[in-house]
Formats: sequence, structure tokens, C-alpha cells
Amino acid sequence: MAQEDVFKKIVAHCKEYGFVFPSSDIYDGLAAVYDYGQNGVELKNNIKQYWWQSMVLLHDNIVGIDSAIFMHPTIWKASGHVDAFNDPLIDNRDSKKRYRADVLIEDEIAKYDDKIEKEVAKAAKRFKEDFDEAKYRATSPKVLELQEKRDALHARYSAAMNAMDLEELRQIILDEEIVCPISGTRNWTEVRQFNLMFSTEMGSTADGAMKVYLRPETAQGIFVNYLNVQKTGRMKVPFGIAQIGKAFRNEIVARQFIFRMREFEQMEMQFFVRPGTEMEWFSKWKETRMKWHQALGFGADHYRFHDHEKLAHYANAATDVEFLMPFGFKEVEGIHSRTNFDLSQHEKYSGKSIKYFDPETNESYTPFVIETSIGVDRMFLSVMSAAYTEEQLENGETRVVLKLPAALAPVKLAVLPLVKKDGLPEKAREIVNDLKFHFNTIYDEKDSIGKRYRRQDAVGTPYCVTVDHDTLNDNCVTLRNRDTMQQERVAISELNSIIADRVSITSLLKKLQ
Ligand code: ATP
Repeated sequence: MAQEDVFKKIVAHCKEYGFVFPSSDIYDGLAAVYDYGQNGVELKNNIKQYWWQSMVLLHDNIVGIDSAIFMHPTIWKASGHVDAFNDPLIDNRDSKKRYRADVLIEDEIAKYDDKIEKEVAKAAKRFKEDFDEAKYRATSPKVLELQEKRDALHARYSAAMNAMDLEELRQIILDEEIVCPISGTRNWTEVRQFNLMFSTEMGSTADGAMKVYLRPETAQGIFVNYLNVQKTGRMKVPFGIAQIGKAFRNEIVARQFIFRMREFEQMEMQFFVRPGTEMEWFSKWKETRMKWHQALGFGADHYRFHDHEKLAHYANAATDVEFLMPFGFKEVEGIHSRTNFDLSQHEKYSGKSIKYFDPETNESYTPFVIETSIGVDRMFLSVMSAAYTEEQLENGETRVVLKLPAALAPVKLAVLPLVKKDGLPEKAREIVNDLKFHFNTIYDEKDSIGKRYRRQDAVGTPYCVTVDHDTLNDNCVTLRNRDTMQQERVAISELNSIIADRVSITSLLKKLQ
């Protein structure tokens, strides 16, 4: 199946099974804003819990906060967002569609990469066992020509972005003969800067209302609380502050479902360290975060680091954790070494001293910061993409199953009476009433047992138990495993001990130790 079709199926599946709905659906939706349904909110909460516990429970030097979305507007001046949180945009005059100029050029670079990979794959097929890939890449005239063009374009693009040379960005689009995917024409406007922050007014106009912003990242809430937390928590450097919360960006190109939204959620952790030790911590956090991702069990080949070539002026190292989505490797998380830029800026703009006195070195300094920043929604999409499976069964049928890590699954156990009579529903309810205190357990009696299994497969429920007539005598049930579809007879009294451990977030956390 083409990857585009897989993606469409995942989007449709998310809606059909109560994971993600377009916002304001009965009014035909609101662009790039989404709501999470009855199953989506459970999966999302589990992802957040996994992250939160891995930070706050597993590290005795990391604490959490929950800061407000509205903040003093000067914060965004200090952080640089008022002046520099911009995307370069360009319009096509014929289709009236708006694009990010940088994305159009990056897509063009990706096309060269694709062409190179296709050439290599063709040659591998032709030469079979004799194929020497490195040699082919270094000598094939076709590949070399493509690589040269790609590198030249990349160098020109990087230089234009570093200088934020808008005319040059437009010239690259014209020289590369990039067309609008809708109109097919090259009738482009100038490139303009567009600030991504949403603003609103606080207070009545009679008092002289103040312009405030919806935060475009949660990190600044951590920086401006650094002193409060350090002092009240008597924290010693190195230490971290973690936060989960909503962020808002008026994204120009808002496609790809919940990958790029205008209202989304971030899980950010700022780790404050002694200046000069930041590179050591940067590599430690890279390793820790990759382990967190890989503990989900989707396979190491689904992840890669992408180191930034273009660093923000305040950063001295940055990398993205990329995940193999149905539309290619894409950023899910950013890990940045931000120097002492943010704290110094807030020191300057607020006039308050944010120095730390280090009792070990007897020195005062502004701590350096390593940041790990991950989008809940992108993480959700990556989990959904990896879990969505269509399986051909022996009887010729296909089943759609979400192979979610059990600890993240919305429902852990479905209890199904074989028939709706003879006391089986009552027995099944008894089991639910007992186990619901331990994990998310549901009761379902509608339709044939086969249909009920399929329904649970489609939402990723790792276990189902069936209550039959024998259950009334032997107090045993049939326990079915979602992935293997194998069934075993087990005592009701053992269900909790068999299931609870495997479906708990703790089972994931233990893999991180
Ligand atoms: P991109 O380059 O894709 O716009 P970014 O580099 O601007 O992302 P950061 O500012 O580093 O992203 O934000 C950290 C994380 O927040 C990202 O890795 C991503 O998971 C998430 N994120 C950022 N923007 C969005 C968005 N518009 N919708 C959903 N998640 C987002």
C-alpha cells in the first residue's frame, strides 16, 4: 500500500474509533485544530504520564510546574519571539494559496534526495550481490550530478536562511522552477515575514487594554519561574524543571493532520547546568531521550537524530529526534543546548538577578540550559502510525489492529459475556467492578463475540476476557491476547496479577533504568 494511503487510513481510523475529531466538526471544522475523543484522550493522557513520570519520578533532581498560558508581554520581547518568531511566507497569485518559502525549498531538496535513493536502489537491483553501494555513490555520474545540484541548492538555501534574505529565498524558488502544487504555475508574490504568535487583549479598553500573547512554547514559563523553584525547592545545579501544557502557533502551512496544529501540547524540560558542562549534559539527554522513545518497542529503525546545521544565535548544539511517519522521517522532539541566553535575557528585561551561587565552586553564575521539547500530538501521531496494522488472517479475512504498547492503550481489558442471558452479564459486570480499580476495564455485550474482538483490536485493547457458561461453575474465563490472538483459560482471581503489571506505565519506566 502506498504510504499516502496508509496515512489517509490512519486519519480515518482516528475519527471512526473516537481518537481524534476535527475541531468544530458539525461546523465543518477549523483548520489545523483538533479534538481528542474518548479513546484519544486516554492514549494522550498515558503518553503524558509516561513522559512526566520518566522525568519527575525517575530523577530526584527534576521537579514539575504548571505555569499559566498568559504571561507578561515583556517575556516575549526578552525571549526574542516578538521580533524573530517568524516564518517566511509566499503566495501563489493564481491559486491564492500561501506557502512557507523554506518548506517549498526543503521539499525540493528532498526531491533530489529521493532521486538519488532511487538511482541507488535501481543499481542494487541490477548488480545484486556484487553491488558496492559506497563505490556506486562515489562514482556513478548520474548520482554525482544529482548530489552536486542538491548540495549547491542546500548551501544557497542555508546561506539565505541564516541571513534571512527574503529576496534570495524567492530567487531560489524561481531559479529552481518550483511550481504551486494547486495551480501548477510559478506566479509567486514577494516573500514576507509572518509572526506566528496569536495575540489578544487583556483588561477592558477603558483601562487601556494590554496586548498579551498566547504562549508559543511552554519553556518561557519555566525560565521565569526558575528563581521561585530553585529557592523554594532548595534545588542545586544541576537540576531540571518539567512542564506539560498547551502552546499556540499561527502556522501558515497547516496540513498533515495533528503533525502541525495551531493549538497543540508540549512536554518540555529545562535542565540547568554549570557553564562548561553543557556538552556533556547535551549528550546525556540525547541518550536518555532516545531510550525513552525506543522503550516503546517499535524498533530502533523508526528513529534517528537529525543534528541542526543552522543553530539559533543563542544555541551551541541542537538535534531533533525524528520518527519514521508514513510521510517520511519527521521531527518529534527537539533537544537544544540553549546556553544562558534565556535566563540572561530575563535578567536584563526584568532587572532581577538570576544568578546561582554554587556552594561547590564558591562561584556565582547564570546557569546554562539543556532543553528537551516534545510535542504530545506528534508523539501521539507517531504511536498511531507505528501501531496501525492490517493483518491477513488464515481464514482470508483482514483485521485492523492497533498494536499499541499495552501501557499506552486506552482500554486495558474488555470483559465480554458470551451471551446476554443466563447470568453471564452479571458475572462479567462483577469482574469489571473488581478490576476497574486497577486499570481501565470496559464491559461490552453487543454483537457476536468475533465482532467484539475486532472492535477491541481496532482500539488497541491488549486483553479481552470472555465469560461463558463454564465460568459460572469453575470461575475461569478465556483470556485473549490482542497480538497473538491466542486464548488461554485462567482463573478470575488471577486476572489482576496477570494483567496489571504488563499494562502499567511502571512496566515501561523499568526499561529506562
Ligand atoms: P517545526 O520545525 O516542525 O515547525 P519546531 O522546530 O518549530 O518544529 P520546536 O519549537 O522545537 O518545533 O517545538 C518542540 C516540539 O513541539 C516539536 O518537536 C514538535 O513535536 C512540537 N510542535 C512544534 N510545533 C508544532 C505544531 N504546530 N503542531 C504540533 N506540534 C508542534
